[in-house]
Amino acid sequence: MLNIKTEEQIELLRSSNQLVSKTLAEMAKIIRPGITTLELDRVAEEFIRDHKAVPGFKGYNNFPNTLCTSVNDEVVHGIPSNYILQDGDIISIDCGVLLEGYYGDSAFTFPVGEVDDEKRRLMKYTRESLEEGVKQAIAGNRVGDISWAVQNKAESGGYSVVRELVGHGLGRNLHESPEIPNYGKRGRGPKLRKGLVICIEPMINMGGRSVRQMKDGWTVRTADGKPSAHFEYAVAVGRNKADVLTTFKYIDEELNKI
Ligand code: MG
Ligand code: MG
Repeated sequence: MLNIKTEEQIELLRSSNQLVSKTLAEMAKIIRPGITTLELDRVAEEFIRDHKAVPGFKGYNNFPNTLCTSVNDEVVHGIPSNYILQDGDIISIDCGVLLEGYYGDSAFTFPVGEVDDEKRRLMKYTRESLEEGVKQAIAGNRVGDISWAVQNKAESGGYSVVRELVGHGLGRNLHESPEIPNYGKRGRGPKLRKGLVICIEPMINMGGRSVRQMKDGWTVRTADGKPSAHFEYAVAVGRNKADVLTTFKYIDEELNKI
């Protein structure tokens, strides 16, 4: 059974996801060569608690921190550490919050200092593949329509799609049904209904699609050591158009500042 949200619940989810959006924009303000991922995590946790919410990931299956910070060939679930960000790195930050009983969950891949064109193109295509997926999040479509749109866009750029990790429903739980894979066939999978809230989150690799799990039990890296990017929106399925509950507006404003 899919958990269809009322308009009131969607507004609560919007508030949670807007707080995540603003937390990620705080990260955009301070990401630079020389800062550690643990310092980013500290700032994010303080910002979330200052807004009367709690970190959504901390303690979830015993994850130790507020953010997942995944640098370069780390795909997702990187644990904040004393690693010092270097000029030319890319860092995927995934952030969750719990506000008034509802979860927010979004991710963005940031450049650190001067990033080469190859990595910039990977980030651009990953973000665009997310946008293509969002266009399919309308009532009457199926999950496979989203999956196919994401895969098609990513592969058109010569990239590969991670298959081991997928998007998901979102609500009072961080992970609800259905799963939203980033690869698949049009017209397949569960039918989308208005009011279903889902996270669409392509994880796209510059090289091959294979990944490996690190011994810390969390960090997932590309098998070939090439970079990976990750962007995630929470969206409510709409009758004619998806209602995107996350916004990258605040991040873009920060990144475009000179
Ligand atoms: Mg996430
Ligand atoms: Mg997610």
